[in-house]
Amino acid sequence: MRRAADLSVPHYRIAVVPGDGIGPEVIAEAVKALQAVARPGRLQLAFEQVEAGAACYRRTGEELPRETLEVCQAADAILFGAAGLPDVRFPDGTEIAPQLTLRIALDLYVGLRPIRLHPGVPTPLRLDDGERIDYVILRENTEGLYASRGAGVLVGGHVATDTLVVTRPGVLRICRQAFELARRRRGAPRDGVRRVTLVDKANVLKSYAFFRSLFDEVASDYPDVQAEHAYVDAMSMYLVQRPGHYDVVVAENMFGDILSDLAAATVGGLGMAPSGDIGEHYGLFQPSHGTAPDIAGKGIANPLATILSAGLMLEWLGRRDGNAEAARAAARIEAAVGDVTRAGRVLTPDLGGPGTTDAVGDAVVEALAATPAPA
Ligand code: ATP
Repeated sequence: MRRAADLSVPHYRIAVVPGDGIGPEVIAEAVKALQAVARPGRLQLAFEQVEAGAACYRRTGEELPRETLEVCQAADAILFGAAGLPDVRFPDGTEIAPQLTLRIALDLYVGLRPIRLHPGVPTPLRLDDGERIDYVILRENTEGLYASRGAGVLVGGHVATDTLVVTRPGVLRICRQAFELARRRRGAPRDGVRRVTLVDKANVLKSYAFFRSLFDEVASDYPDVQAEHAYVDAMSMYLVQRPGHYDVVVAENMFGDILSDLAAATVGGLGMAPSGDIGEHYGLFQPSHGTAPDIAGKGIANPLATILSAGLMLEWLGRRDGNAEAARAAARIEAAVGDVTRAGRVLTPDLGGPGTTDAVGDAVVEALAATPAPA
């Protein structure tokens, strides 16, 4: 991949960070899908590939080289594969995770995790006829318990502490994003009600009670959106029992992390779960899964989560710039993935098929070609 030669026509610069494990395999398919929706002079995408992750750390001693950070900062958006390998660690034993470093460096405070059951995709849930799963988890990405990453305290080999950080501006901004998102959506599948559900443990910890009081403050500015609370333990049950009730779910960092894997399992697994990490100035888009070392190099990783993440990226660019062409391309990618899963002919083993990563990517490109954008 290289930057497009013709910089005179409008184009988006996309920093591409393939990373480790299955990262490069799934990224290649997402780039194929993006190239298939690009239109000369209308939606032009220029890719710039850069390095980060465990292999990079092993070779250079840096998980996120300065050049990579600079390319990411200069880009319109970042497309990220996955990074980190179990046997490559920092001296303190923690894993290489440039994606987490980027979250803090670029202040990507919104962890956007759409949970949608695509047609034909098997779910372990028993759903009523016609029942749909279509909600979004907004995970606060920069505070919470994970704010202590790299800063916890180990006292004399006997006591370890990590601090849960909740700040007023941090909570207000993620809650506002949640209500704004609910306004843009069409409500929960089950009843069409625009709803934001806060997940916490306000009955146990002061920090979560504070989070809840701030959520309520924001909710009062959005009388058209229903606001409700759920404790995280009960929520893990509700997401299995009544997923159709949910529209937008907002949660502290760690709770959002855990619930989004549970939620992904209900819509076909991590291979079907896209994500965006978004701030005021930057957006990074990546599958919710990690580097999956157990299947890396076998050509069987499901690329759909990454392809859907590429769609999220275009949707975000489209909204940021009022660019209808990007918004249309995003919708086409989402629809093409639905066409591929509905047909069920080419699917990877995680979805019960015999397909390979690149065959699924090709199937998405074919589906895009079968439904061209309007002239
Ligand atoms: P991390 O901690 O970085 O999130 P992890 O090791 O906890 O990573 P993953 O790498 O996401 O988890 O893998 C979890 C399981 O899901 C593995 O068995 C892996 O093979 C499977 N998996 C993850 N992504 C995919 C994918 N795209 N296609 C098929 N299987 C996948």
